[in-house]
Amino acid sequence: MLFKELELNQNLLRALKEAGYTKATPIQEDAIPHLMNNKDLLGCAQTGTGKTAAFALPILQNLTEAGTAGKGNIKALILAPTRELALQIGESFQIYAKYLPLKIQVIFGGVSQNPQTTALKRGTDILVATPGRLLDLIGQGYIKLNQVDFFVLDEADMMLDMGMLHDVRRIIRELPKKRQSMFFSATMPTEIEKLAGTILTNPVKVEV
Ligand code: AMP
Repeated sequence: MLFKELELNQNLLRALKEAGYTKATPIQEDAIPHLMNNKDLLGCAQTGTGKTAAFALPILQNLTEAGTAGKGNIKALILAPTRELALQIGESFQIYAKYLPLKIQVIFGGVSQNPQTTALKRGTDILVATPGRLLDLIGQGYIKLNQVDFFVLDEADMMLDMGMLHDVRRIIRELPKKRQSMFFSATMPTEIEKLAGTILTNPVKVEV
């Protein structure tokens, strides 16, 4: 299916065209229409399937339509297990949001927090974060998650392997109950399925 058949706005279509993307991958074709309808999503998908755009495009579309972005509050939170993944997701959002007035920021541990907190003070619409640093900055009062409308948990099974689920659960407690959630994992061990059950409401299931 072509991206232009997916009812994405012109600013997104223009950015996709410039990035050289014309055809949606299978996971994008399956997930995007449901996500644009504000459904929760449980995605069983590996990296390399195009899953980042599958959640990024509907978030950007819905944020633009809601008209609530650009006020300095974090409206979308994406959690990823590693710095590399967080940076990659942030770069994808930057590419797709090229013609949208949205601020995207990536935070992760292992580096000085000062440049991150300075940038946060200027306001962020979309935050991509690793769990540990996010909790640190919440604890210090630099970040509030009470305005989040869109929440993505990416590579959940890797978070389990890395011992991050306790931190993830603490973060989820900070989120508003009313939100759209997307949950991605390459495998679905019992503990991950349980976690998905506590995060998602009547999710659409997508497998690739
Ligand atoms: P991901 O699975 O999200 O890590 O994406 C894998 C790679 O595919 C990334 O380098 C994307 O930039 C690229 N990609 C994602 N969607 C498309 C698409 N529809 N057409 C061409 N390339 C894509």
